[in-house]
Amino acid sequence: MPRILAAAFKHETNTFSPLPTDLAAYAARCLRHGADIPAYFRGTATEMGAFIDAAEHYGWELVHTVAADATPSGKVTRAAFDTIAGTIETALREQGPFDAVLLCLHGAMVAEHVDDGEGELVRRLRAVAGDRLPIGITLDLHANVTDAMARLASVIVSYRTYPHVDQYDTGKRCADLIARTLDGAVDPVCTVARGAMIDAVDHGRTTAPGPMLETLAHADTLRAQAPGVLDIGINAGFPWADIEAAGPSVVIVRDRKAGPRDTTPIAATLLERIWRDRRRTTVQPLPLPAGMAAIRDALARPGDGIVLVADCADNPGGGGLEDSVALLGALIEARVDTVAFGMICDPATLQACVAAGAGATLAVRLGGHSGGAFQGPLALQGQVMSVQPGQFTFTGPMSRGIALDIGTTAVLRVGGIDIVVAGTRHQVLDPGFFTHAGLDPTRYALVVVKSSQHFRAAFGPMARQILVIDSGDGLTSFDLAAFGHTRVRRPVHPLDELPD
Ligand SMILES: [Zn+2]
Repeated sequence: MPRILAAAFKHETNTFSPLPTDLAAYAARCLRHGADIPAYFRGTATEMGAFIDAAEHYGWELVHTVAADATPSGKVTRAAFDTIAGTIETALREQGPFDAVLLCLHGAMVAEHVDDGEGELVRRLRAVAGDRLPIGITLDLHANVTDAMARLASVIVSYRTYPHVDQYDTGKRCADLIARTLDGAVDPVCTVARGAMIDAVDHGRTTAPGPMLETLAHADTLRAQAPGVLDIGINAGFPWADIEAAGPSVVIVRDRKAGPRDTTPIAATLLERIWRDRRRTTVQPLPLPAGMAAIRDALARPGDGIVLVADCADNPGGGGLEDSVALLGALIEARVDTVAFGMICDPATLQACVAAGAGATLAVRLGGHSGGAFQGPLALQGQVMSVQPGQFTFTGPMSRGIALDIGTTAVLRVGGIDIVVAGTRHQVLDPGFFTHAGLDPTRYALVVVKSSQHFRAAFGPMARQILVIDSGDGLTSFDLAAFGHTRVRRPVHPLDELPD
């Protein structure tokens, strides 16, 4: 029976965030070991859920080590990196021999001591296992794929959807290729190519016809014409990581036994297309004043369904601190009514709400604690509507079945706005972030989520209109030139003017 080592070690690192990503940050989202991993992931719409099913299907013994994931934030601390990577490395050394390794990664991890977290992890595993052990890795399509990752991994498979509703399919594709490798049917090897861009292919969005879907379709056509090309990954990259190799990339997995020796022309064709389309987007975020006008217009028009607003400059799913109050303050000032706002992460205000208790009215200084160039706290009078434990299971299409505990939360009502106040940061991509607090998002006129795109999978069907607002007040604003990148290769689009 083949023995396969499985692990997950994910992070999307926003190098502009002041929040270090330590073990506590992993524990707040997911940090599980050994037998707890299959118990938690079995039956979920995730890569690990697919690895578990694949092991049963192919008759593998899957050896679980660690499954670690943290909400995007600043660099992973050296201690956290060494602890988690070290756990995988030790298992590889001491619990072997193994026939292969399967890893769920993100692809945009930056640690304090190394810009290429995934490359460093696989390098450490190769140092133990040698060059021939098949290592299959899955990546988020916002991966910044480095040359080291492509050189060191046997198989790299990336998501093809944003919102990422194909996590399970991605895990299955990776496991299937490793199964064919173990059978001796294929001998995979990876290459990566990138252009002079840190941002393109519409950020990878797949909810409307546009550059990402067109590029994926083109990649499928090229793959069908090139026997032996096993997989082509189109990665949109993560522009808020200021590292040399940031940006969109094309990853090609080819079969050394049957594939073309040189996949450079395929990668070049796809990169040309990505370059040509680099300014095309399916969503144009509105600046705050235009966004507020659009909200007023949308609410004035009658219709079924909610008006849904994404506060995209402060998306915790890309490293936002979830305490920007620019949009919230504008809604309060405009006296917009019947609003559910999810969420503001403010541990001190949460503590005050818990101490005051449900029904109490209190003065708070909400959010805006990040300092620097960002807007300061809002001085408000609010009523605590409820205090509750933040435990729920994702029911939307993305990460369905995953159980999450976000800690105690409170609902604070200010005017006509019910604000979910939390003590930990999470992207609001599932209705559970409201329903755990007794708020039914479909019963509000306006629902605001701290998210850029993932919210569309679960909340989209409830909405009669969706508005994406970029207040500029946050670490995931699309005004990339404002961040002051210093380490990425230059010249690069859109930071520099480049000729077509
Ligand atoms: Zn992503």
